[in-house]
Amino acid sequence: MEIISTAKKMQEHADAIRRLGKTIGLVPTMGFLHEGHLSLMQESRKRAEHLVVSLFVNPTQFGPTEDFDAYPRDFERDVALAEKQGVDVIFAPTETELYTKEFQTYVILEKIPNHLCGISRPTHFRGVATVVAKLFNIVKPDVAVFGRKDYQQLVLIRRMAIDLNFGIEIVGSPTVREPDGLAMSSRNSYLTPEQRLSALSLYKSLKNAQKLVESGEKNASRIIEAASKLIKSHKETHIDYISICDPETLVDMDIIDRPAIMALAVKVGKTRLIDNMMLNPSDGMAVDSSFK
Ligand code: AMP
Repeated sequence: MEIISTAKKMQEHADAIRRLGKTIGLVPTMGFLHEGHLSLMQESRKRAEHLVVSLFVNPTQFGPTEDFDAYPRDFERDVALAEKQGVDVIFAPTETELYTKEFQTYVILEKIPNHLCGISRPTHFRGVATVVAKLFNIVKPDVAVFGRKDYQQLVLIRRMAIDLNFGIEIVGSPTVREPDGLAMSSRNSYLTPEQRLSALSLYKSLKNAQKLVESGEKNASRIIEAASKLIKSHKETHIDYISICDPETLVDMDIIDRPAIMALAVKVGKTRLIDNMMLNPSDGMAVDSSFK
């Protein structure tokens, strides 16, 4: 496994791999790797011959009062985990390597950031789109794999890849959860044991919403109300948003008459957690899958 820290070397390496006729898969991460990240690497392995994982805590996607400095980092551990996964290259640039003093070019999407996390994190998606565009130009992958856990990010990057003609296949990979259902996240390491219990309310409220929809409930505000009640019954929770929305535009839906995404962001203590699930309305009577 090679570790590359400059954009120029990474570009040269990518060019050499492409000249050999090999396809390149990219998994962008901010490090502090967990099973969720590893599943993206496995997905990329299935789709491309050469696997590049980037490790970069991107300052431009953090707001001024957010956790950029506190964000967990463990480079040695990440390197060992990546090596075990058979990663070919770790691309780990420094902050000044990607953002020089004169840096002034950003990628801004017009609509997708106006929903969900973009409301309380107004500069977040500008930072995400910009760094991912830079990574795409540096690594020149054929395929890039992102987690559905960060659903809005996935939708945004799909849009950007089409709009800017990157010619890269964007793959969304399922959310990996702890055995009790909590979505894996580097930020889970901030939680105290008591907060860890409260954090489970995100998953519980989403599962409960799925059940309500399966039993015929189509009214989004009633489902949101039930989720809100459940989350608020747990200690140290503060809801940022709960939304049921169109899976592509992220525009709120009042009636769930077609597949919808339920997405939420909740602060547990000082830790902001997100999660989401697809809601699939049943048309009339539930079909017993054993009859298929
Ligand atoms: P991060 O390091 O948090 O920026 O995440 C890097 C990539 O891993 C993103 O595409 C995330 O959506 C994805 N990811 C994070 N947590 C999970 C998870 N629990 N399951 C699947 N993918 C995840």
